[in-house]
Amino acid sequence: MRDFKNFRLESRRSRRSPLLRLLVGGAILIAAGVGLLLWQVSGGQPAPAPAPAPSAPQPDSNIQKKPSRQITLPLKLPDLGDESSSTTLPAPPPTAKPRRSEQPAAQPSTTTRTKSIVTQAPALDRESLSWSNHTIRSGDTLSSIFSEQALSPTLLHRIVNSSKTAKQLTHIKPGETLRIGRDSSNAFRSLILDHDRINSLIIEIEGDSFSARTDTKQVERRTTHRSATIQDSLYLSAKQAGLPESVIMELANIFGWDIDFALEIRSGDHFSVIWEEEFLNGDKLRDGAILAAEFVNQGRRYRALRYTDESGHSDYFTPEGRSMRKAFLRAPVDFRRISSRFTRARWHPVLGKKRPHRGVDYSAKIGTPIKAAGDGKIIHRGRKGGYGRTVIIQHGQRYTTLYAHLSRYNKKAKSGSRVKQGQIIGYVGKSGLATGPHLHYEFRVNGVHRNPLTVKLPAAQPIAKKYRADFEMKSLDLLAQLETLSRTMLADAN
Ligand SMILES: [Zn+2]
Repeated sequence: MRDFKNFRLESRRSRRSPLLRLLVGGAILIAAGVGLLLWQVSGGQPAPAPAPAPSAPQPDSNIQKKPSRQITLPLKLPDLGDESSSTTLPAPPPTAKPRRSEQPAAQPSTTTRTKSIVTQAPALDRESLSWSNHTIRSGDTLSSIFSEQALSPTLLHRIVNSSKTAKQLTHIKPGETLRIGRDSSNAFRSLILDHDRINSLIIEIEGDSFSARTDTKQVERRTTHRSATIQDSLYLSAKQAGLPESVIMELANIFGWDIDFALEIRSGDHFSVIWEEEFLNGDKLRDGAILAAEFVNQGRRYRALRYTDESGHSDYFTPEGRSMRKAFLRAPVDFRRISSRFTRARWHPVLGKKRPHRGVDYSAKIGTPIKAAGDGKIIHRGRKGGYGRTVIIQHGQRYTTLYAHLSRYNKKAKSGSRVKQGQIIGYVGKSGLATGPHLHYEFRVNGVHRNPLTVKLPAAQPIAKKYRADFEMKSLDLLAQLETLSRTMLADAN
C-alpha cells in the first residue's frame, strides 16, 4: 500500500509533523519578532518574507522548481490478492504524511502559516481567548448578532468603518459562522467570519483600532484512482469500486457524449479514473476534478484528459487533442433513470404492426425529465399521431431530433422557442401508441433517420494550437498511469 502514497499530487506546500512545525514555527516567530521592531504591521497585507530560521535547512531547490501539479507515477501497483475484477484501490489515508514532505524544509514566505504568525504575533494569542460561535441564519443581521452577544452598536460601527477589508463583514450570508473572541476580562478582542472551511475574514483589536485581513487556508490536492469492471450498471459498479457520487456523475458527463450510459453499457465494460481529492489540515475536504479517465465500452476504448488553459478554463480532450464534448448528447435522458439497463437498443425494422422503428426507446418512469440533445429551436410541440405528445427540435440546417410519447411538456419549451443543450423540454409518458412509459427518440441528418446510438456527432473545438504542445507534455504521465491501471485491472480479472 505504501507505493500508493506516490500516487498523488505533489503539493507545493509540504506538510510537516506537528512537532517540527512547532520548532520551525517557533524559530520563525523569533525571527519575525525581531523583524517586527523594524516593520509596522498593516492588516490585510501579506507579510514580507521573514528571515529563515537559522536552524532550518535551505529549501530543496528541486522541490521549489517543480510545478505544483506534478504527478509522480507509482513504480508498482499494489497486489490485490483476490480475483475480483473490480479493483478498488484505496486512497492514501487522510492522515498519511506524504514522504517528501517529511524532510524538513524552510517554508517560503508565501505560506499562510508564516503570514499568520507574523501578523498575529503582536496582536493577541487566539488560543488564550474564549470564543462564542454563531451560525448565521437567514434574517440575521450584524446588529442582531452583536446585540445577542451583548456587544455595543458603537463597537460594530467602529469595526465596520475601520477599513475596506472590515467592511466585508456587512456581507454575511446564511451558513457562515461568526466567532467572537473575548479575553479573560470578557472584553472583545477578535472577530472571525468563516465564509467556509477555507476562507475567513479576521478582525482583531490592535491598540486603539482594528486590524482586518482575509485568510485563505492552503488546500492540499492529492490524486487517487479507481478501476472497475461493470457487472450490472455503471452506477452500481462504480459505487462498489468506491467512486464517490460526484466522480461517477462527472465520469458519465465526460463520456456521455460518446457512450449512451442508459442503453450501451454491457457487462464486462470497464473503466479507470484518476481524480483529485482536496485535503485541509490532513482531513479530506471534498473530491475534486477528474484528471484522466478511460472507459472501454463493448471493446471500444475512450480516453479523456483534463486540460486547464492559462485563463483557467478546463475541458476534457482525447489524447489526440479532440474535444470530448459534442454538439449533441448521446442520450436525452439521465442514465440513472433508465429502468431497462441492459436491454439491447431496439433498432429493429418493425414495431408492433408494419411501422418501421426509426428511433431508440428509453424505458423510464412517467415524469422522467427529457433533455434537449443539442442547442436548437423547437419546430413542433403537440400531438403527432402514434407518437402522441411530441417535440421536434431543429439544430442548425442539417439536424433534427424528435422526442415522443411525452406525458407533458416543459411550459418554457414552446413551439418556436430556442433551447439549450441539456434543457428540459418535457417528461416521459406513454401518450400515442405506446405499450408502456418510454421515450422514443429519433435523430435525423438532412431529413434521414440515423441511429442515435452510432451516428457520428459533430464535436466541439479541439485543443487550441497554442496549447497543443503543453497539453501533450502534461498528458504523458496521466496516459501512462491510465495504461498501468488498465493493465493491472485486466491482469487481475484473468
Ligand atoms: Zn420507439
